[in-house]
Formats: sequence, structure tokens, C-alpha cells
Amino acid sequence: MSTDQHEDGRAVPATDRDLPEEVRREVARLRDQLVVLHAELVRNGLVVWTGGNVSARVLGADLFLIKPSGLSYDDLDAASMVLCTLDGEAVDPAQQPSSDTGSHAYVYRHMPEVAGQVHTHSTYACAWAARAEEIPCVLTAMADEFGGPIPLGPFALIGGEDIGRGVVETLTGHRSKAVIMQNHGVFTIGKDAKAAVKAAVMCEDVARSVHIARQLGETVPIPQDAVDSLYDRYQNVYGQRPAAPSAPGAGADAGAGTTAEEASR
Ligand SMILES: [Zn+2]
Repeated sequence: MSTDQHEDGRAVPATDRDLPEEVRREVARLRDQLVVLHAELVRNGLVVWTGGNVSARVLGADLFLIKPSGLSYDDLDAASMVLCTLDGEAVDPAQQPSSDTGSHAYVYRHMPEVAGQVHTHSTYACAWAARAEEIPCVLTAMADEFGGPIPLGPFALIGGEDIGRGVVETLTGHRSKAVIMQNHGVFTIGKDAKAAVKAAVMCEDVARSVHIARQLGETVPIPQDAVDSLYDRYQNVYGQRPAAPSAPGAGADAGAGTTAEEASR
């Protein structure tokens, strides 16, 4: 019976019971993290009703977790996140994952460095999507976070892998972790799910500022050498240095605390 409960006494979802102990632990950690991160989408005004989703790759297994289809944000809990294979199939066929699951799976298969993804229809990103325009790099915050413009991806129909293919084609070799998909919305990638959520929040912020700037006139591009310098500083120098180098995943107990600690910055 002990295999059916976590250390904290919570029940282990049926899909997780047969996983090796270490993977099961990681899945449990990611389930909790996805609840927090979906709430961040709401808190930052990036989603309405049941739209939008976050997914997280399960390191050490060919699996990822994603939001269930059609569930309201108030009803999301750790157990409701759907465990999927990298083919985009739910491990438990009775569970219905997000309609964007095939595209998330495609990105995970083709971009091994990506371990988190976000999709939203946030208002200002969608305004750029509706005009089929990339967001030009006209703010230092864009140079910092995205290293240049936020590119435009192709129009693609929802439901299969076409969106994922467009995300991979557009972002491979690009500094930006966000792509404006034409006539649709924004997709972001990250080294983990939290980084992808951060990119989604920052993307909407600059999409709004540049959109507003356009209302009263032309925007002024930042010279490429300045963009390069800003990007390098922000990516490599900015922020607090860790007290001691530690490998990702080292110390399983620290995992749950990371989110709260980093979120407070
Ligand atoms: Zn969408």
C-alpha cells in the first residue's frame, strides 16, 4: 500500500504508480509546480476561461505533464495534470490532455534542451499575431530577455503537430524563447516550465509597451551591437550569484522550495 501514497500522505495518481521511484518523485514535484505556474498565468492576466496551458518535461523519462483539456483554472490540482508520452498520448487514455498536446510533444522531441512550454492568447501578443508582425526590438527589456525581436511563426491549425512544427522552425537557432504564431497567440519555451512562464509574462509586457508606442508614432530600433551587449549582460551578469555551484536536480528536497524562493524575487 505504501507505493500508492507520497511521503506526505497524498494519493499517487494511477498513471504514476508504475514509474520508477525517482521518476515518480520528479513527476510529483512537477505536478505541484504546474499548479503554481498555471496560477501565475491567471495572476498575470495572460489567460481567460480555460485557455492557455503550461507543460513540463519529466527529466529522466520520455514523458511530460500538461494541463487537462477544458478544465477551469479553479479546478486544476496536482492530480489533474495529464502525464503524456513524447508521442503526445496520455498515459491514461481516460484523461484528455490540452488540445495543444501534440504540438508540445513535437517541440519536446525536436528541441531536447527545452523542458517547459507555455501557450497563451494574451491580449497584446495576440494583437501582434492578428497583424502577423514580429515585435521589433525597441526596448532594452526586449534585448535583455529575448536578445532581439520576438519572431513571427507561421499560421497553423490547432489540434495536431503543425503549431509545434512552426515553433521549432521559428525558434531553432533564435535567441528568443517566445514566438508570436500568426493569427493565434504566443508560445514560449524554457529550460524548465518556470522559465517558459517568465518568457510568456515578459513577452506580454513588451508586446503591450511596443503596441502602445506604435499608437503615437514610429518606434526606434536599438542598434545590433547594443542589443548584443544588453543580452550578454542580462543573461550572464544580472541577478544574484548562487552561493555555490550545484547541478540541476541535485538534492531532490530542494526542488519544491526553489519555486517559492525564486518567485519571491
Ligand atoms: Zn491557442
